[in-house]
Amino acid sequence: MHEYSIIQALMARVESEARKHQAVSVQRIELRIGEQSGVETELLKTAFETFRHGSICSQAEITIELVPAAWSCPACDRTVVAGDVLLCPDCRLPAQLVAGDEIFLDRIEMEAT
Ligand SMILES: [Zn+2]
Repeated sequence: MHEYSIIQALMARVESEARKHQAVSVQRIELRIGEQSGVETELLKTAFETFRHGSICSQAEITIELVPAAWSCPACDRTVVAGDVLLCPDCRLPAQLVAGDEIFLDRIEMEAT
């Protein structure tokens, strides 16, 4: 499952960050997930519950901020509103997704010795 591999990659990153800072535990992980990223946030939380046991994240809380999708025109940068036809009203060009497809590790809170 997609979400499981995301969490595995994420936890590998968190663990290497924790090692770098000689942290003994991770308290909180904050993620930003674009609503167009194709990631199910509930599945992501379930995957985290599965993998955190026995890891440095076993006490960690995970928070997920959903980033709304945003489109703009590649020619004139005009914002194209979601729900409309995704064409720039001026240039008639198809809009490009400029936000909302990210999977971003925003913040890690950890406790050092
Ligand atoms: Zn335009």
